Amino acid sequence: MSESRTHFGYETVDEAAKAERVAGVFHSVASRYDLMNDLMSAGLHRVWKAFTIGQAAVRPGMRVLDVAGGTGDLARAFARRVGASGEVWLTDINASMLAVGRDRMVDDGCLQPAVQCDAEALPFPDGYFDRVTVAFGLRNMTRKDRALAEMRRVLRPGGRLLVLEFSQVRKALAPLYDLYSFSVLPWLGRQVAGDEASYRYLAESIRMHPDQETLKTMMEEAGFSRVRYFNLTGGVVALHEGVAP
Ligand code: SAM
Repeated sequence: MSESRTHFGYETVDEAAKAERVAGVFHSVASRYDLMNDLMSAGLHRVWKAFTIGQAAVRPGMRVLDVAGGTGDLARAFARRVGASGEVWLTDINASMLAVGRDRMVDDGCLQPAVQCDAEALPFPDGYFDRVTVAFGLRNMTRKDRALAEMRRVLRPGGRLLVLEFSQVRKALAPLYDLYSFSVLPWLGRQVAGDEASYRYLAESIRMHPDQETLKTMMEEAGFSRVRYFNLTGGVVALHEGVAP
């Protein structure tokens, strides 16, 4: 793939076009995003996120950055853990998603900052955070290497990045998973959110995303050490962790 071309699902598009198309997807799904997540994953996304929250081991006083935080599931959980002396920054490039996330934080009694920003150019100083998380966000980013480098830059030495993302399923599960992804998901999208195309993009973008070992290598190339990953639900999802040097 040349420098200025990238994937949008199975299509090859200009880098500039990808960000716009991704923005269109998330503006379209924001109001139904949480309901669709529960329906599509049969509630499993809560288990995957709970595992991520446990692994993050956020403690009182920590500074946590949730990148591409969307409707704020991780940020709200972290806000309860950091206490009054800590900080949790909910960030997302998409105003519609961020608005839902910010409102839910406030409704939950969490007065934490919400900032609209691009993961590829984070508006935070070097070494500011103890933890950076990104759940189901990296897949949508145009220059994943830049985003990972930014996440490393804003972590303090010894701070940890956690990347929760769809990944490559075990071979035995693949036929069933493909049937589900390319038949059931777009159908659900049409019935519940009135938007088949966004859920077809979801299925395609998962197939185009780097597999477990490739993402591990990308994190190492971005400067993370002790990178490891956990396969969840047969590799439907993987949680990658890396430590900033
Ligand atoms: N983290 C939330 C969760 O786990 O439910 C939301 C995940 S949602 C599938 C993906 C999010 O990534 C969207 O809210 C989208 O706006 C955001 N996103 C895509 N590209 C981004 C970028 N370059 N910088 C920041 N956020 C981005």
